[in-house]
Amino acid sequence: MNISIKLKKGTNMKIPEKVKIGFKDYKVNKVDGDVVFNNSICYGAIKYDDGVIDLMNINLSEDMRQCALIHECVHGIDDLFKIGLTEEQTEQLGKGLFGFIKDNPEIFKE
Ligand SMILES: [Zn+2]
Repeated sequence: MNISIKLKKGTNMKIPEKVKIGFKDYKVNKVDGDVVFNNSICYGAIKYDDGVIDLMNINLSEDMRQCALIHECVHGIDDLFKIGLTEEQTEQLGKGLFGFIKDNPEIFKE
């Protein structure tokens, strides 16, 4: 995925140990090296069958890592509900959702 989005600082989003997408739990695995998927290096990758989301843990800003997590979660939602998003749609939706989460933190506060 390519990220070309500027987001305001200040809102803190956590990278959890695992995320739940529908009935599936995905372990969030921070990789101290390149994440390789389909023979190319990417910021993250989701393994549906293993229940693992790999995130690149080096050479990446925290914002980019969080955005990559959201991107992979969009893939997970797409897989779960059989939506059939293209990679480009997943990228745009992921960026949109990430921006939305950052811009509206009060929604998630108790
Ligand atoms: Zn992707």
